[in-house]
Amino acid sequence: MCGIVGYIGKRQAYPILIGGLHRLEYRGYDSAGVALLSETDKLNVYKAKGKVSELENVAQEKDCTGTIGIAHTRWATHGEPSARNAHPHVSESGNLTLVHNGIIENYVVLRDQLKSRGYHFQSDTDTEVLVQLIEYVQQSLGLNLEQAVQAALKRVIGAYAIVVLDRRFPNRLVAARKSSPMVVGIGEDQSEYFVASDASPIAEYTTQMVYLKDEEIVVCERGRDLHVFNLSNEDVPVEVKNVELDLTMLDKGGFPHFMLKEIFDQPAVLEDCMRGRLLPEHRRIVLSAVTDHRERLTQARRFIIVSCGTSWHAGLIGKQLIEHFCKIPVEVEYASEFRYREPVIMPDDVVMAISQSGETADTLAAIELAREAGAFVFGVVNAVGSSIARNTDTGTYIHVGPEIGVASTKAFTGQVCVLTMLALALGEARGTVDPGEYHAVIEELQHIPEKIGRILEQNDRIEVLSKIFTYAHNFLYLGRGWNYPVALEGALKLKEISYIHAEGYPAAEMKHGPIALIDQEMPVVFIATHHQQYEKIISNMQEVRSRNGRIIAIITEGDQVVPGMVSEYIEVPETLACLAPLLSVIPLQLLAYHVAVQKGLNVDQPRNLAKSVTVE
Ligand code: GLU
Repeated sequence: MCGIVGYIGKRQAYPILIGGLHRLEYRGYDSAGVALLSETDKLNVYKAKGKVSELENVAQEKDCTGTIGIAHTRWATHGEPSARNAHPHVSESGNLTLVHNGIIENYVVLRDQLKSRGYHFQSDTDTEVLVQLIEYVQQSLGLNLEQAVQAALKRVIGAYAIVVLDRRFPNRLVAARKSSPMVVGIGEDQSEYFVASDASPIAEYTTQMVYLKDEEIVVCERGRDLHVFNLSNEDVPVEVKNVELDLTMLDKGGFPHFMLKEIFDQPAVLEDCMRGRLLPEHRRIVLSAVTDHRERLTQARRFIIVSCGTSWHAGLIGKQLIEHFCKIPVEVEYASEFRYREPVIMPDDVVMAISQSGETADTLAAIELAREAGAFVFGVVNAVGSSIARNTDTGTYIHVGPEIGVASTKAFTGQVCVLTMLALALGEARGTVDPGEYHAVIEELQHIPEKIGRILEQNDRIEVLSKIFTYAHNFLYLGRGWNYPVALEGALKLKEISYIHAEGYPAAEMKHGPIALIDQEMPVVFIATHHQQYEKIISNMQEVRSRNGRIIAIITEGDQVVPGMVSEYIEVPETLACLAPLLSVIPLQLLAYHVAVQKGLNVDQPRNLAKSVTVE
């Protein structure tokens, strides 16, 4: 869930590692550390609880020289966030040091075995067993570093991305992965290599990337080509990919927080998402996945969408879109539940995995299950080259650029946009979409970015409105039909960054329980745009009013009814019902953002959360 950076080359490693950690800090940020091998082959390890800036304070005025090093920003799974538990961890002899993302499931057994052989442990982490185990097999079997890494990893159960440095081999870094991402960047003429848990910390140095696959080990040695081999001791051909990240996307671009920037990115990135796919001159949508796998997709008996969190909410909208335009039944599953049930998956099912990072551990496991059952697997992913993108039969990238804010915003609208295009393209291929509606939705999709822009112009107003609600301890979000998943997403946004308890419900369900909570203290957000069941949602609003609930309504511009009923409302432009979520979610993102800012909270790095959930 956290971040790794490693460097070996001619330059000073420290600035590259620290710069890289800053880029990765959004992934995990409870502690950080760095290990550097100085010119005199002294291993210097510095660690700090808290942010990367704390680490910089610790390292200040210390020896930070060296052209080889590894660094880590942690999201604790085993052991409290503290300098002691921060990575890199160092082996008993002081020769090896290692950083790790993931979880070692059999660490207790391994640790006990190592303790009985005289190894001492300094931390409470599962990670520390790895560095000790590598040293133990290295010493007892007389292996070189990469062989020792291989032998040790064969004894490990769990998920890992690791980088190991041995101070006796100052020209070499060894990295490996299983169920946690790892990428190697090739710098200038084989004389430098960058290792990282994703491409963002190294994209400014190179576009030449090698993505490791599960159970692969890579040796990065100065002056030599990369050597990749696997746990079965087979050499693996090195596949270099040209990956170009838009570096401006990795900066805040003048906004106080990444989250606000990413909310404001939405008009532009949704244009990117649709570019080359929505062809206005032909009034058509062309998705290569649908063109290339037309037969398989049009014949699908059922779609099963597997995802987590915000992506699951996008999946609920995807269900409505696919059922509406393609007349194919769709089930939406939490990946974590799906993988541990005995789900009935048929070979003519299409399993669709939705994930911003493309590394979500539970979603990856759900894909494996689908593959075993012979289903066709479709990925909807943002991070190019990520594990889900590589482990699916086909898919569609959402292309909204790196999302840094932990609370997902532009990835959600990107996912909904892709699902809309997919449902339209597939519906057209199946002949299940009414041609008039098909063209109307294509026409309207083109106006969505500009309409989002109009909602964003109300940012100042929403900021003022948010001040009223910082007192609240609970919020209810209600919507129906297309806007029901938006209610869930609005509540999740508020929870994630403002720490206010919030629940999303289908509005009609209110009477089956949540109405008991309503009093004058309880803000209720109604998503009441001019679409399906508008009258019914007005009745639900009356019910809340009668109980003195405090309403914030999201309404369609020009609504004459709701403004007379409630004191707080935010208008969104008119659009088609099936596209309503793309607009109605925007004010909810802004509301959550401003409430959190008013409360003085760290919006981009909310407590306990991490951006990419690579552990189950
Ligand atoms: N399980 C390790 C720990 O708790 C690594 C966690 C992480 O991925 O940051 O230190």
